[in-house]
Amino acid sequence: MSIIHNELGIDESKCQNCGSTDSFFDPESHHWMCRVCGCCWMFDRDDPDYDEPDDELSLLDTDGVWKPLRELK
Ligand SMILES: [Zn+2]
Repeated sequence: MSIIHNELGIDESKCQNCGSTDSFFDPESHHWMCRVCGCCWMFDRDDPDYDEPDDELSLLDTDGVWKPLRELK
């Protein structure tokens, strides 16, 4: 199973392994499966654990405050 970062214009039904578009989406497990080679893949936005990524990394400061990494440099 590979997790693919969803990008604008990406062909979700295209197999990452063999390039076939003969695939189907399984709404229960949120993944695509290729009918040709049996490869599975999913997109990170379909992952229930997926969170919007922060623009910048933050670190917990010594006084318990989250600060952007660039401020600590
Ligand atoms: Zn395939």
